[in-house]
Amino acid sequence: MRQLCIYNSLTRQKETFKPLHPERVGMYVCGPTVYGDGHLGHARPAITFDILYRYLTHIGYKVRYVRNITDVGHLENDADSGEDKIAKKARLEQLEPMEVVQHYLNSYHAAMTRLGVLPPSIEPHASGHIIEQIAYIQKIIDAGYAYVSEGSVYFDVPKYNSTHPYGKLSGRNIDELLSNTRALDGQQEKRHPADFALWKKAAPEHIMHWPSPWSEGFPGWHLECSTMGEKYLGEQFDIHGGGMDLMFPHHECEIAQSVAHNGHETVRYWMHNNMITIDGKKMGKSYGNFITLDEFFTGSHPLLEQPYSPMTIRFFILMAQYRSTLDFSNAALKAAEKALQRILEGHKRLLDLKPSATSTVDVSTYEEKMYEAMDDDLNTPIVIAHLFDVCRIINQINDGNATATAADIDTMKRLFTTFLGDILGITLDGTSAGQDTDILPYRQAVDLLLQIRSESKAKKDWATSDLIRDRLAAIGFSVKDTKDGFEWTLAK
Ligand code: ZN
Repeated sequence: MRQLCIYNSLTRQKETFKPLHPERVGMYVCGPTVYGDGHLGHARPAITFDILYRYLTHIGYKVRYVRNITDVGHLENDADSGEDKIAKKARLEQLEPMEVVQHYLNSYHAAMTRLGVLPPSIEPHASGHIIEQIAYIQKIIDAGYAYVSEGSVYFDVPKYNSTHPYGKLSGRNIDELLSNTRALDGQQEKRHPADFALWKKAAPEHIMHWPSPWSEGFPGWHLECSTMGEKYLGEQFDIHGGGMDLMFPHHECEIAQSVAHNGHETVRYWMHNNMITIDGKKMGKSYGNFITLDEFFTGSHPLLEQPYSPMTIRFFILMAQYRSTLDFSNAALKAAEKALQRILEGHKRLLDLKPSATSTVDVSTYEEKMYEAMDDDLNTPIVIAHLFDVCRIINQINDGNATATAADIDTMKRLFTTFLGDILGITLDGTSAGQDTDILPYRQAVDLLLQIRSESKAKKDWATSDLIRDRLAAIGFSVKDTKDGFEWTLAK
């Protein structure tokens, strides 16, 4: 088994990964809240932990990967007395709440499939684990770390903090927290502003609620991950992941809950992917730059100059190490599209290379170098840089400036199937499952037709040239002649 080093957010350093069991890994990642279409913010954690899942599996571990579905209503803050977001959507659209959940879950799954994200081993719904969550809360109350107030249950942060450091993951301390806490509605129920809800009594208009010993209500958001993580991975497990924005309060609260519940921490390695910005700005509905994944795939958002295929989005995300920030812009995405095209074309040329009796190139070190990059906290941009190097060698051979034996050509083929295909999850033809329009061969076919048209024009064969343009226009392509050749778009 290879030695993988990962950055542990808890210790703030890279550590050699040593799972509890020599061959099995338990891994939990906070999944989506399903009350809206899959968006760009969903793509980075899903792809980051897909890479980890693929790599751990590739190097020989048997991985149990749990990614939850938050469907009982997302408490925006601990004193959230407002309406459950899913319930609100259901009421406005006169749907069953679970109908809303299912609709958005289907859309999320479809987008993930197109992005090449493998499904997790278990995808538990918070709404399907109410009994377990109630039992979990009761044990925290019994241990003296939670109290009941007006039918709701709150975690007693000062009590916990007197013996365990609350804020150890995010590096905050409770005093700082106190001075930053705004006055919140319903806060009078809590003994301390930093206390967070384990169970909330439902207001009469709240349509998703369950009976409990304390009230008809619903569990707090932080609780579902502690409960389901422990249920499926045990009282101690290896990896817990999510976006950096979840570090506080969500993951901090998870640590406090599990210590209060079990007397010890549950998670050994905390991993967090960094955030995505769009043109340097935080993504959000209020910024007008909230772009859904479907809008990226179809190009149907005013900020997008063209559609971007799911594999382009995936490749772009992998061109940065997961702990660096990543800025989306049309220029950066177009560059990623070109880069991916170059790699895929290199692979295509590789398949047609003729072997020679001797090699003038050395490809023997790449496999180890690429593994070393992956072992170094999943350094995907370095893997991609090595693949570009291999492409350069392929081009030299293709141009007749170098030779390679059949064995060396096989080695190069293996680098592509293993690293680009299996580990980075990029399909070697650039297509995506569930996607049959915006794929590389289709773009290449349109380019080819337009090249033929350019040649016809050069030969003054106007009939052929016009025929190609008119036929493409009839099926929705608009073609523009430029001084360097042509540009085309698929009209929506
Ligand atoms: Zn979570």
